Order: sequence, then structure tokens, then C-alpha cells
Amino acid sequence: MPELIEADVGPAARHRPRADTALATVPAGAPVSRVWAALGTAGVLQDLYAHDAHDTHDDRSARGGTAGAPDPARLAGLIRAVDARGDNGVTLSVLVQAASALPVLAACAPGTGPVRQALDAALSGTSTVALAATDGAAAGSDLAGLGTQVTIGADGLLLTGGKRWITTACGADWLLVLARHRPGRHFTSFTWVLVPATAPGVRVRPADTDLLTGSGTGHVELDGVRLPRDHVVGRPGRGMAVFAQHMGTERLAGALWAVALTSRVLADTKERLTRRHVDGRPLWEHDAVRQRYAGCLVQVRQLRALCESLGERVAHRQDLAAAALLKSAAGLVADPVLAACAQMQGADGFARGGAQRIRGEAGVFGIGGGVTELVLGAVADHADTVLTELRS
Ligand SMILES: Cc1cc2nc3c(=O)[nH]c(=O)nc-3n(C[C@H](O)[C@H](O)[C@H](O)COP(=O)(O)OP(=O)(O)OC[C@H]3O[C@@H](n4cnc5c(N)ncnc54)[C@H](O)[C@@H]3O)c2cc1C
Repeated sequence: MPELIEADVGPAARHRPRADTALATVPAGAPVSRVWAALGTAGVLQDLYAHDAHDTHDDRSARGGTAGAPDPARLAGLIRAVDARGDNGVTLSVLVQAASALPVLAACAPGTGPVRQALDAALSGTSTVALAATDGAAAGSDLAGLGTQVTIGADGLLLTGGKRWITTACGADWLLVLARHRPGRHFTSFTWVLVPATAPGVRVRPADTDLLTGSGTGHVELDGVRLPRDHVVGRPGRGMAVFAQHMGTERLAGALWAVALTSRVLADTKERLTRRHVDGRPLWEHDAVRQRYAGCLVQVRQLRALCESLGERVAHRQDLAAAALLKSAAGLVADPVLAACAQMQGADGFARGGAQRIRGEAGVFGIGGGVTELVLGAVADHADTVLTELRS
């Protein structure tokens, strides 16, 4: 995605290695902790949020800036470089940390204290952080029904509940947990809490799955976890608002990943089709195959165009309608394109780590961070805005 990557690279980033250079010496198959450390050491994570990661609340209020907004070009470069390693689990983990957990931490971190320490450590790559919103007590599509409770008292916090299907949970140093501090579904009932993974009462068990194994996805039990008061992230009652404000960044990152992943699999598929002969001709020269393949290219090119046209709006203006368009488009494009690639690879698509496996793992585009059906509902909510833009 050259336009996005080359655009708007500030002076701080210019002398720093890009993500692909930072990862060049990290061995294939390295775990996410190593990939994350390499990105942090090279300053790639810092540069994502270079405008505001070190601002305090007061700094941001003074200049009226947007907290925790990434540079879309640098985000695209990061996602593409990590995807090129071909370990979808690791990519998912980097994506959720960089595009979901870091923006929430950066938006809320005061100048000192554990939240600031966690943010700084994550940005430097020395620690990893999982974002735990999906709750054991409610469907993921019913976030306001979550059951994990935090009691905020003068002498500290008491946290009880459970989270499920949390990327990086197995191995994260910190868990950023969305909890309720009062009953009810009102959006002011929720608060983020920073939980050290080693705190007494925290138990993590790996998700029972063969997919995305490098992501460290797991389920978290919080059994009477006691923490000091300064482990509240942001103001109590602002949890859902902060989440909604920064959700778009993960949605943009997901769409960028869908472009990178489908492009990578399409390139591999074309090479195979060129090598494989049927009736004396490479499959690539058969019209039906070419047309099917070209249809996939068109869909991916459209998705990339959507990323390019909406990236700035999502990152800097927190345009949730644009973010919903991007997320639903990623879910709707990745599945048919990867299914077509897997089919065109024939039996070889069933090889270990092959196209059929990738297709299954890419199902996360339609589930993680909000199922496609729910996100399409948000697109429908903004139908008039989208129509006005289409007709202008
Ligand atoms: C690999 C992986 C990693 C994840 N990582 C994280 C993470 O890091 N942090 C985190 O907090 N969560 C994470 N999740 C959880 C994810 O966000 C939830 O799975 C997701 O929000 C959906 O919730 P659910 O699984 O409970 O499905 P449900 O909400 O139970 O939905 C099940 C199905 O019902 C249908 N459905 C639901 N709602 C609607 C609707 N409104 N209209 C029509 N149909 C609907 C859809 O077909 C949907 O797929 C992860 C999930 C996976 C699979």
C-alpha cells in the first residue's frame, strides 16, 4: 500500500527503521513476545502514536488534540510487515495490542502511575497487554450485558468475573479489563481496570482451538482480585465511551490486515496456477480460472480503496460510520476471496498451514471485535449519511 505508507511520515519516524526492517532479523515462527519486542525496540510502536502517546490528559486538553489516534500510514506498514511473516496468530495479537489496547491506554494514561508504566512498557516492547472486553456472562454482541464487576472503594478495587476468547491472554503481562462498577446497561456503568496478569485471583486458561495458535488466545477468570485505586484506567464510568471512541482504530487495522492477507494468498495462488498444468496449459491460462481470480482482485482492490479513503477519518475524526463500513467490508471480502483461493489450490490447499487453514483463521474478520451482522446494523444506522456521500 505505497500511498498510505509513504504519506505523512513525520521527522521522528524518518530516521527510524520501518516495521519490515525491524522484523527482518526476527526468526520465522518466533512467538509474539519476540515480534512485539522487536517492534518496540525499533520505535515502531512509539511512532504509531508519536503525536500523543506521551501527552498527559492536561497536555491534550490544552491543545484540544485527539488522544490515542494512530497514523494510518504507519499502521498500514506495521500490519503488512507482521502479516508477511505468515503467522496469523501473531498478527492478530500485534493488531489487538497495537490498535485496541494501546489507544485506550494512551487516551487514559496520566503522567505517572501504573497505567502510564504499562503504556510505556508496551510501547517499548518490554511488556504485552491484552484487551479483555468479551465477557463470560453475556454474548459478545451484548457488551452492555457484561457481568464482570469492579467495586471501587476508598481502600482499592475488588474485581470479580470472567472474560473469554481474549487474544494474548496467555502470556500477556497486563490485562486491560472492561468491568461494570454499577448495575444496569447505561453506558456510564462501565470502567476499564488495569490488571497485572500475576495478581492473586487471576487465572488464564488457553482457548481450546487449533486456529490462530500464536495469538495466545485464552479465557480469564478474575476471582476476588484486589488492586490499588490507581489501576482504574481513565475516569470511572467512561469505559464504554473510551472504547467506542477508539474502536475505529482496530476496525481500520482489521481492514488493512484483510487487504494484506488476501493479497498474500492471492499472490501465492497465482504462482500455483501458473505452475500447474491441465490439458497441456497452465491453469492460469484457463478463462474460467482467470475470471474467478480477477473477481477476487477487484474485491480486494475495492477494500484497499476503502481503507485509503476512510483511514484518516477513522483514525483522526473517530468516524464510527466509516469504521463500520471498513469492518463490515473486511468481513464480507476476506471470506469469499480466501474460499476461492483455497478452491483454486485444489488438494494442496489442505496442506498443513495451507489456504484452507488460512481461510478458517480469517473467519476472525467476521467475529472478533464485533460480528459482521452487528456491524452491518451500524452501517444501516448511518445509511442516510452514506447515501448523501454517494450522491454528492
Ligand atoms: C480468535 C478470537 C479472538 C478474540 N479476541 C478478543 C479480544 O482480544 N478481546 C475481546 O474482548 N474479545 C475477543 N474476542 C471475542 C469477540 O469479540 C467475540 O467473539 C465477538 O464479539 C462475538 O461474540 P460471541 O462470540 O459471544 O458471539 P455472539 O454474540 O453469541 O453471536 C453469535 C452469532 O450470532 C449472530 N448474531 C449476533 N448478534 C447478531 C445481530 N445483532 N444480528 C444478527 N445476527 C447476530 C452472528 O451470526 C454471530 O456470529 C475474540 C474472538 C475470537 C474468535
